[in-house]
Amino acid sequence: MKETKNIKGYVIRVSPYKEYDAMVTILSEEGLFSFSGRGIKKNTSKNFASCQPLCFSSFQLTSTGTSYSLKESKLLSSSPDYSSFEKAISLSIIEELSGKIIKDDDCEVAYEWLGSILNSLNSGLDALSMTLIYFAQLIKINGYGLNVSSCIHCGGKKNIVGVDYINGGFVCERCADKNTVIYNPETLKTVRYIFMCGLTNYKQAKFDTEICYKLIIDLSIFLEDTLGFKLKSVETIKTMLKY
Ligand SMILES: [Zn+2]
Repeated sequence: MKETKNIKGYVIRVSPYKEYDAMVTILSEEGLFSFSGRGIKKNTSKNFASCQPLCFSSFQLTSTGTSYSLKESKLLSSSPDYSSFEKAISLSIIEELSGKIIKDDDCEVAYEWLGSILNSLNSGLDALSMTLIYFAQLIKINGYGLNVSSCIHCGGKKNIVGVDYINGGFVCERCADKNTVIYNPETLKTVRYIFMCGLTNYKQAKFDTEICYKLIIDLSIFLEDTLGFKLKSVETIKTMLKY
């Protein structure tokens, strides 16, 4: 007997396996969920728009033995806005991060953050600042949050000069060593903010653009060192800024 399932969620990964077919992974309130979508890559498909990355949609699925396939889907949010370079690069980072580092255990918090961040982007808040916050929060959800309240070596709160990503937090002038990435005070303030803020108070954030790019690159290097994968979307920024 065919089983039907109705589920709502954000499309976080679309992996094509034939010219027009793709596996779709969504982040839902219930967790991560994957299904195959036949013909969804064809722009005449009735399911084309609702299966685009970062769209919030409802899906009607049928079970075929051990896996699910898409019967019908409906777009429930407005489509992401790719109208400027910053918005486009932000969305591609958000998509890649969501598809790569959200684990089953982290779904509940990640779901709330993704929804909130996408709403913030749609309502015109600064795309790069929102992306940087989302990046830090996903790292935190993943269990790799940084200690940004005092020096990780001596516990001192004065003369913080940089971040030791490998050992997980702020470092003071006295304790700085070869693992310390030295930052100026405004960058340090930004690092502190992105790891400390919560869902209720992050929306007033508007960071300097250069600092955003710099920290997005540094967080991606950190991710590569700890989890072992490169973010292609960040490579684009590196090329552009000649890092
Ligand atoms: Zn210290």
